[in-house]
Amino acid sequence: MLLVERARSAAAMAAGEDGPGELLGHGHLAMTIDQGPDTSRYQGLVALEGKDLEHAAHEYFLRSEQIPTKVRIAVGEEVVVGADGTRQHWRAGGLVLQFLPRDPKRAQQADLDPGDAPEGVEPHSLPEDDAWREGRSLVATVQDDELIDPTVSSERLLYQLFHQRGVRVFRSRKLVAQCSCSREGVAAMLGNFSQDDRDHMVENGVITVTCEFCSATYVFHPSDVASDVANEEADAGRAEP
Ligand SMILES: [Zn+2]
Repeated sequence: MLLVERARSAAAMAAGEDGPGELLGHGHLAMTIDQGPDTSRYQGLVALEGKDLEHAAHEYFLRSEQIPTKVRIAVGEEVVVGADGTRQHWRAGGLVLQFLPRDPKRAQQADLDPGDAPEGVEPHSLPEDDAWREGRSLVATVQDDELIDPTVSSERLLYQLFHQRGVRVFRSRKLVAQCSCSREGVAAMLGNFSQDDRDHMVENGVITVTCEFCSATYVFHPSDVASDVANEEADAGRAEP
């Protein structure tokens, strides 16, 4: 999840600092992995150090997943000419290449430098597997406009790149941007705290909860969230003569 402050990015653009790293600034990229119900989500954080999102993704895969990975991302403005005039919208495309050989030893990468090796020790290195070298060189030839060209389907692009190796296309899945958080869920979570704990959460008259996964913000009036226990006590109190 990435939030770029509009005002700050506009100021950077005006100053001619419009490189991806300059616009992103120095924050963190959070990679959230959610493998569905009955699994717990986990998150890897990578520092954005003035470089682009591809760089941050490579850092993540190197340090967290440790799978040889190449990421390509492109975004561009598209002008659509229709009967009702021209419309402009943004179009993004990307490609992730991973090396997942049957023998995991082939995908082994060198230890991260410096790691816990004593000073003066030569950085660890491993020869790169030929198949992986071939794959990442092919992906390096992909141009930005190929990634966002509406006439180049992902199947066509895959075939162009890897037809010599043979391409197998799996059934595609529709992607939607969503998080499993909800107002009801957050309210229920707040209900599990004691009244005293909740009183301490009140700031400027409200309780504000930000979802760490999608950055959605939920604002509650303190009287909107009461613990079940408190409700039961209130009910019991009312029932007394
Ligand atoms: Zn969320």
